[in-house]
Amino acid sequence: MIPAAFEYYRPTDMAGVLAILEEHGDDARVMAGGHSLIPMMKLRMADVPHLIDLQDVGGLSDIEIGSDSIRIGALVTQADIIDNAELTKVAPILREAALQIADPQVRYMGTVGGNVANGDPGNDMPGLMQCLDATFTLVGPDGERDVAARDFYEAAYMTEREDDEVLVAVSFAVPRGGYCYEKQKRKIGDYATAAAAIQIEKDGGTCSAVSVAMTNLSDTPIYSEAAGAALVGTAVDDAALKAAVAAMLEDIDPSEDNKGPVAFKKHVAGVILRRAIESAWARA
Ligand SMILES: Cc1cc2nc3c(=O)[nH]c(=O)nc-3n(C[C@H](O)[C@H](O)[C@H](O)COP(=O)(O)OP(=O)(O)OC[C@H]3O[C@@H](n4cnc5c(N)ncnc54)[C@H](O)[C@@H]3O)c2cc1C
Repeated sequence: MIPAAFEYYRPTDMAGVLAILEEHGDDARVMAGGHSLIPMMKLRMADVPHLIDLQDVGGLSDIEIGSDSIRIGALVTQADIIDNAELTKVAPILREAALQIADPQVRYMGTVGGNVANGDPGNDMPGLMQCLDATFTLVGPDGERDVAARDFYEAAYMTEREDDEVLVAVSFAVPRGGYCYEKQKRKIGDYATAAAAIQIEKDGGTCSAVSVAMTNLSDTPIYSEAAGAALVGTAVDDAALKAAVAAMLEDIDPSEDNKGPVAFKKHVAGVILRRAIESAWARA
């Protein structure tokens, strides 16, 4: 598998990146870790005459942890997240999710920015970011703008990002309460058959707030407000769990593929969501 010929650029600042994007339009694409884009180029599913490597652009590799919020630069890798003890202390769901992505080789290269910008329904971080109610910061010829993760995904590989914009960071409030990222995959290193991201808060014995997002069960990640609503105000007992699963199943729209038929995927989604809520609740 050999990709079509392409020009390779390695600018050292964002102005240089934006200038090449502006000059070549649709024919140019940025590359971060390359672990989604290069395979697609080799399979000739992506034709990229002008490839812009972001690796030398400064200021995109920081993890900033404030008292209320966290900002993660686009070039931070999944391995960086796993290794950051301070981040794990304040937002442990990130490490739990990152550890379930692919294998160590991929995680050393795969970036947060590439994972969320890609638009692949199989990527784990878009659902995670919807669960955290994150904001994506994009920079383009007209400057910077923020887009909510819950509004970013339009269809498979289609997002709110314009072709001449680069995602520079993701930010979110320091999460509260119990957490869980639960994923079912056919084998180690595989994309999810179904995955669930949960943050849940407990007040006394009652659920006071919760966020639920599902991965690889539709063209886009699914933030299920209805699943959350079925849990708030309950003691997260069996009836509430069943109601949350039923509400989530109304929101997803899986299709048959090599991971299984629709009925199987819905069954797995229900099992995974129930497990994720139970784990998060026990940790709250
Ligand atoms: C064998 C294998 C198994 C994998 N399994 C999983 C898995 O289980 N779960 C999972 O989530 N991922 C998985 N991945 C994907 C991996 O996590 C990728 O690294 C990730 O999806 C993309 O990150 P990247 O930095 O490699 O992006 P790249 O491949 O460099 O880019 C991906 C896309 O995003 C665009 N892009 C990249 N960065 C930016 C940016 N800053 N701004 C705008 N656009 C940008 C590129 O133009 C391209 O279209 C797997 C990959 C492999 C090879």
